[in-house]
Amino acid sequence: MTGDLLVQNAMMVLPNRIVEGDLRVSNGSIKSVAPNGGLVPLPGEFVIDGTGLHLLPGAIDPHVHFREPGQPEKETLESGSRAAAAGGITSFLDMPNNIPNAINRTTIEAKIAAAKKSAVTHHGFFIGATKNNVKDLQSVEGMDGVCGIKVFMGSSTGDLLVHEQKHLEDIFANTGGIIATHAEDENRLQSRIEQFGHRTDIAAHAECRDVECALLATKRASALANDYNHRLHIVHMTSGDEADWLASNKGEFITTEVCTQHLTFDQNDVEERGVRVLMNPPIRYTEDKETLWKRLKDGTIDCVVTDHAPHTLEAKSVGFPKAPAGMPGVETSLPLMLTHAMDGKCEVSDVVKWMCNGPAKVYGMENKGSLIEGNDGDLTLVDLETRKTITDADTWTRVGWTPYAGMELTGLPLWTIVDGIPVHSRSKDGPFKGKSLVKQGETGRALKFKRIGN
Ligand SMILES: [Zn+2]
Repeated sequence: MTGDLLVQNAMMVLPNRIVEGDLRVSNGSIKSVAPNGGLVPLPGEFVIDGTGLHLLPGAIDPHVHFREPGQPEKETLESGSRAAAAGGITSFLDMPNNIPNAINRTTIEAKIAAAKKSAVTHHGFFIGATKNNVKDLQSVEGMDGVCGIKVFMGSSTGDLLVHEQKHLEDIFANTGGIIATHAEDENRLQSRIEQFGHRTDIAAHAECRDVECALLATKRASALANDYNHRLHIVHMTSGDEADWLASNKGEFITTEVCTQHLTFDQNDVEERGVRVLMNPPIRYTEDKETLWKRLKDGTIDCVVTDHAPHTLEAKSVGFPKAPAGMPGVETSLPLMLTHAMDGKCEVSDVVKWMCNGPAKVYGMENKGSLIEGNDGDLTLVDLETRKTITDADTWTRVGWTPYAGMELTGLPLWTIVDGIPVHSRSKDGPFKGKSLVKQGETGRALKFKRIGN
């Protein structure tokens, strides 16, 4: 479904400037961008008064785990996409470590069909690599709704793992599109897990899954990308050392991302918030956080993502080290980054670059990521004046909690719009959660990806 919509008098965050004006969406696409305004409502158009609000392109989260199929108690494509919409995210890319894993054409087609039926935002899916499924990887190349290949080089949640050189070479040599790697070195990881197994204090997590684990794998994946001229995207950069190394060794085939939580938390938050912020690779140290910000600003890091990976509080309640790794975040990432912007960490236009243009560019998403005529009518209108404290009860994710509980956020979306249809709204003085406006499956499509490089 697509819609006709007019936003009036908003501060529009355009590619090169922020200017007050009007924006019209016709039949789901951005038809006119009018700095200084003057657009008059047409019959049948849904009109939004954007006075005092900032109008952004719909944000894109290219790294989520919506747990469907297999773990509906944690998330589904419907609940995850409603959470996304509540946070101003209009497109998501979902990871393959499900039950069963999405590792062949049949499982990928099933996920695309399920999303068509139940998601309310645009969607794309990674196919998971195993040590012997190159033919399956090839079978979905270039398919609408398929954004790339995910390779877990180190063990994390689920059983997907490819760490032997010959298997990695096979994948890099015989596939196209984008390979996205979870870069932690499996051999070092296993020997460290043995060494640190007796520790029950949560600080042990970052000591065990150390920077060297991550750096080794990042270097190895980069070498493969360069040897085979293959596009590589290194997911969730966590350490200053990796980011610094990439700054001078990135090369034309390689892109990378950082999670909101690694820009927000450090060892002190791990101590304070405990297993809620346990994830792989870990939240590290103040100096890592500061270097990640620096490398994001200098362009070494291409985009900001969430790695939304919900687990129930019940599953988390067993404590460290048994608690599962991962935290929700898809509905808080845009407000959180806009809060950083309003606190002086960066500019509002940087947030748009990192959460809208950046992911669209990395994955070659057609017609996404900027407020320009002809692009899809995916928008979010955010309020940068009000601040509200978030609690677990304010969340849309199925697991009902947020790692940011107790934090004061600004930049909450008052409207999220997909293809010209309002999918989520809240009011300045109303409840934090706001309301979902569409039925399951009513909005959102399988994303199309342009092939970039080999
Ligand atoms: Zn992930």
